[in-house]
Amino acid sequence: MIKKIAILTSGGDSQGMNCAVRAIVKSAKIYGIEPYLVYEGYKGLVEDLIVPASEVKVDEYINRGGTFIYSARYIEFKQEETRLKAKKVLESHGIEALVVIGGDGSYHGAQLLHKIGIKTIALPGTIDNDISSTDYTIGFDTALTAIVDNVDRIRDTARSHHRCMIVEVMGRYAGDLSLHSGIATGAELIITSENKISLEEIIKVVDHQMNVIKKTSMIIIIAEHLYDNLDEMAKEIEVKTKVATRASILAHLQRGGIPTANERVLSTRMGIKAVELLLENKSGLAIGIKENLITSLPILEALSQERPKLIDEIIKITKVNQQ
Ligand code: ADP
Repeated sequence: MIKKIAILTSGGDSQGMNCAVRAIVKSAKIYGIEPYLVYEGYKGLVEDLIVPASEVKVDEYINRGGTFIYSARYIEFKQEETRLKAKKVLESHGIEALVVIGGDGSYHGAQLLHKIGIKTIALPGTIDNDISSTDYTIGFDTALTAIVDNVDRIRDTARSHHRCMIVEVMGRYAGDLSLHSGIATGAELIITSENKISLEEIIKVVDHQMNVIKKTSMIIIIAEHLYDNLDEMAKEIEVKTKVATRASILAHLQRGGIPTANERVLSTRMGIKAVELLLENKSGLAIGIKENLITSLPILEALSQERPKLIDEIIKITKVNQQ
């Protein structure tokens, strides 16, 4: 049976990563496995930033955002010789297995470690919800809650001044945060890579919503990376429609903060599952949630699955919100 496991968080931090680490540490202890923490992701693995988890009171972190074992972007991990160094470091501690919490980039690293003989399990830690093999990733619910909280505030001021507000949200190339926050805030326009429209078309919608059907405010949610300059867009809309328009980029406000209850439940369930799989001697697996069941499948499959298309839902919701 496995005696020692290590845990790391990698890529962009996401709320709930701490809960997952806590659950892995505590369930490992139940089974007599010694858990170790790797600081700073794959970089820490290579540089031997590894400490026994017994040195840390993991219960302190159940309600803290970010990742208390730190994360890093470490491009060198794409080179095989760097990964072989990491393997040596783990072997020097007698650690046989690793749980990686991160996004799809981190999944690639985990898969390559599995290939060179380290027992590896991957947990989906990213606010973007862009891992197709799981309905929800660790961090998505809390980031969504932060966006909705901020857009509600923006709506209050927009309503008070009959304004149109453009809000840019994260998601990398996935539209989930945009669609879900658009649903939850009643945004009159939700724009993602799947339904990107021209400035002229956006202007038409603003004109209709504000000048024809006389809404008191309008929210446009736009996924990041789609348009060059939202301040310029706001100016152009204002010139053409005479509706006061402003742009707001939520940026890192979406990342930190106290994980929601759902986040804590999800990450704890996934963390426990990771240890159970290692006890069964499994490796190279990615954990997810489907129909409220915690699932696992090969990391390679998780990386190659198609993302569900959002376009039909965006159209349906937009119709409702534009009423
Ligand atoms: P995320 O995991 O959130 O998608 P990144 O794409 O930045 O974030 O990946 C996190 C880290 O995973 C990278 O900094 C690198 O150390 C490692 N990584 C990413 N892609 C690969 C790859 N193709 N091969 C090996 N390691 C990778």
